[in-house]
This record gives sequence, C-alpha cells and structure tokens, in this order.
Amino acid sequence: MAKKIKTLRFDTDWQYDPAPESASAAKINAQYDLFIDGRWQKPQSGKYFETINPANEKTLSRVAGSNEKDVDRAVRSARQAYEKVWKKMAPAERGKYIFRIARMMQEKARELAVIETLEGGKPIRESRDFDVPTAAQHFFYYAGWADKLDYAFPNKKVAPLGVAAQIIPWNFPLLMAAWKIAPALATGNTVVLKPAETTSLTALKLAEIIQEADLPHGVVNIITGAGKTGVAMVNHPDVNKIAFTGSTEVGKIIQHSIAGTNKRSTLELGGKAANIVFEDAAIDQAVEGVVNGVYFNQGHVCCAGSRLYLQESIAKEFIQKLKDRVATLIVGDPMDKNTDIGAINSKNQLDTILKYIQIGKKEGSAIYQPACSLPKKGFWCPPTLFTDVAQSNRIVQEEIFGPVLAILTFRTDNEVIEKANNTPYGLSAGVWTDKGSRIFNMTRRLRAGVVWANTFNKFDAASPFGGYKESGFGREGGLHGLTPYLEII
Ligand code: NAP
Ligand code: MG
Repeated sequence: MAKKIKTLRFDTDWQYDPAPESASAAKINAQYDLFIDGRWQKPQSGKYFETINPANEKTLSRVAGSNEKDVDRAVRSARQAYEKVWKKMAPAERGKYIFRIARMMQEKARELAVIETLEGGKPIRESRDFDVPTAAQHFFYYAGWADKLDYAFPNKKVAPLGVAAQIIPWNFPLLMAAWKIAPALATGNTVVLKPAETTSLTALKLAEIIQEADLPHGVVNIITGAGKTGVAMVNHPDVNKIAFTGSTEVGKIIQHSIAGTNKRSTLELGGKAANIVFEDAAIDQAVEGVVNGVYFNQGHVCCAGSRLYLQESIAKEFIQKLKDRVATLIVGDPMDKNTDIGAINSKNQLDTILKYIQIGKKEGSAIYQPACSLPKKGFWCPPTLFTDVAQSNRIVQEEIFGPVLAILTFRTDNEVIEKANNTPYGLSAGVWTDKGSRIFNMTRRLRAGVVWANTFNKFDAASPFGGYKESGFGREGGLHGLTPYLEII
C-alpha cells in the first residue's frame, strides 16, 4: 500500500485515516494487442511498450506500438465496416448498440475508475465521481440522438462522413474517448481511435466492452502507439475526418498536414483560462471554485482556471483565504479516497511544470507552496500559487498544465476584460459576482468558448465545449457535437 503523505494543516495537525480503493478491483492484462476488426491482433511492428503507474513508477502492462501498416489495417477495417454495415444500419439499431456500451460502462464503472487512477495518477474520487460517469453519460446522450438526426437538423438532409481518425490526450483518457466515439457512432461514422502513449489502458478496456457489446466488427478500432502512430492516422488517404484533442503545437502540425485535402477536422487544443473574482462575490465559495478550477486533476485540464484575477479591494483577504485552503489539500496516493491532488501523469509533464515554476521565480513573482513531504518514487508537484505577477510574465501567457496558479489584480470591468482576453488561447473562463447584469456583460465580452458563472469546471453531455483562437475549433458535446461528423445539406 502506498504510504500516506503528510500535509501540514493550517488549523490543526490531524490526518484522515487511509481509505484506499483496492487495485484488485481491476483486471489488467500483462500485455495488450491492437483492437482491429473486432479482434485482438498482433502489431505488425512486433513492438510493445510499457505503461507505468505514475504514483510509484511500477509497470502496469505492455501495450502494442502501431506502425503505418497497423494504421492502414485499422483504417481499412473501419472503411469496410462503414460501407458494408454501419452506414446502412437503421439509425435506431445503431442507437441500441451505443446504449448497450453506455450500460456496460456503468456496470464496469469501478474497474474503469481504478484503471484510470492507476495509470493516469488522478485521485480515485475524481475517476469514480467524474470521469467514468461523465463518459457513460456521453454514450447515453448520443445514443439518444442516433434516430433523431432529422429532427436535430429540420429541413436538411444529413449523411455521415465515413471514417474518423481520433487522437486523444492523457488527461481524461476514458472521457476523451467517449467524447470522440459516441457522437461519431451516433451519426453513422466508423472510428479508428488512438489514446495517448502514457494512458492506453481504459481505452483498451473500452475495446473489451465494445467487443462484448457485439458491435459489428470494424466499427470501432482502437490502436495504441506514440505520436508517430498519430501522424500515420492523420496522413492516411482514406480517412475522412480527424478529431484531435491535445496541444496547440500538434494541432498546428495536423492543420499543415491536411491542408489541400478534403479531410474535415476538429481540434480541441490548449487553454489559459481566467478566473475573475469581483468584490461582490461570495468569497468562500469563490475560494472553493478557484481551488477546484486549477488544482482539479493536478491542473492537467485544458480549461483549468490557471490565471486568477482578483478585484483589488478583496485581493489581500482572498489570497490569505486561498493559501489557508490550499494548505489543507491532501497530496498523495491517488488510490486513497481522501486525496485531493494525485500524481503528475508523466516525468515529462513534471519536468515541464517544474520548469515553469523556476521561470515564475526568475521572473520575480512570489511563490507559495504548502509544506508537504512528497514520496521519493513517482511524479509529484505540490499545489503552487504565484503572487506579484505581471500580465506579460510567461506563467501568465503560457499553458503550464499543472497545479500552478498565477494571481493578478484589477480595478474595473473593462480592465479585467482586456487582461483576460490578452492571451493566444480562448477555451474557458470563470466569473464570480453577485450581479446578474455583470455576469451577462462579462460573458458577452470574454473571448472563451465556455464561461462559467459562480462555478467552475462543470460539464454535461448536453452542453457544447470548445475553443476560440489557438484553443482550436469545432465543438464537442450537445447538439453542436453532432455537426462535425455530418454532411448537412
Ligand atoms: P499532444 O502531444 O498534442 O498529444 C495529444 C495526442 O496526439 C496524443 O495521443 C499524442 O500521442 C498524439 N500526437 C503527438 N504528436 C502527434 C502528431 N505529430 N500527429 C498526430 N498525433 C500526435 O498533447 P499532450 O502533451 O499529450 O497533452 C496535453 C495538451 O493537450 C495540453 O496542451 C492541453 O491543453 C491539451 N488538451 C486540450 C483539450 C481540449 O479539450 N481543448 C483537452 C485535453 C488536453 P502520444 O501521447 O503518444 O505522444
Ligand atoms: Mg506530447
């Protein structure tokens, strides 16, 4: 059992007793092949790579590395399933399969949550209460649309696009797979999906569910591998649509690669959300919201509220309350049900975060980190906040993708709009105020795809999500999420 990490509490020094979830709730094979054409197939590359638990660096399993031939096999299987079965199937029948997948995900919810936490490093409380239920919710939601597409787009004719190549990141592995697969299937497309290299296992579990659900062979193919596998998917000539979630950098490469082809694409990229707190806000609730906004899932969230703008009159009080709250966060074993902040997903990502913390210090900002002793093994970063920060500082401008908050102040509405919009990104934002009129004024003028008011990081399958500017284009979720998978005439 991983050792409990001691965190200093600001008021007392007591600790919760350990409350670990059991790793034995998950069945993880020693090795996984590729899920192509409804069967597990050996990779033509002959290569496998290890996937580890970032909380203790122990190997969890070995997964196959796909080369161009494997990608081609998966795309051909998806094409055949599309032409011969899926596009011809009555929409209500397609819906039944998607409902079945959703129900089976619920039945296996505990196992999926445990695997997500073991491989991803996120607290079990989040995998259990957020990732897995929300992933199942997406399948339920889109299953419902399958036979209602004519109502969704009245007076229009709709048709699927064909084969969708879907590439996802490591921060919400199962949820991102659900965001991608569910709307594609509901609209009659077939899929080749690649999870991120460090988090393949819940996607492979989903492949087992899909196999057990008896989905026609080849409708969903799940192939594992590194960035190169993604490149081969993007460049495959028989792919009709690319759906990508990941970094802005790779998003740009993909756009270059598909320029001049008739491949459709949606890109969900990075973010640098502003969380804006006015002096009339409910302060204690706002403190909770800010903590949830940036420390949830170790800050591995593209829409994380990583920039905090405080109205000057409340800044001092707010920062003190925030520090007090941050000091109570429990950093440690992700499998413990009391843990607030788990392990950073990889050594690479930890290095990036630590690099930015150094940059913040060098830029002259004041750093606060509560005292906590971190384990020797695994990848850890305590919750971190910076004050005395300038708008032009790199920790304000660049995405860190870790539990690091930059705090700035403002006086007027116009000033904070200017500052909040002064970023290459435009994914999300938060506004905390008691005034409804101010909420509407801010939400209209903030250039962000999602703006939360008096809350943060709330998601629902019925609600669209996506960015402006360098945060990408296209929407996932809701009715909007059907459009990118359809020809609408
Ligand atoms: P990444 O390097 O862009 O990787 C994302 C996915 O693309 C992974 O599956 C990756 O494979 C693959 N990939 C890498 N290079 C590729 C290439 N040249 N062509 C095609 N696919 C390629 O991103 P990351 O560093 O893993 O994830 C963090 C980033 O994702 C952050 O910037 C974050 O903001 C963004 N993100 C955005 C959203 C959103 O909804 N907007 C959601 C989550 C994350 P490997 O993992 O094997 O390299
Ligand atoms: Mg990467």
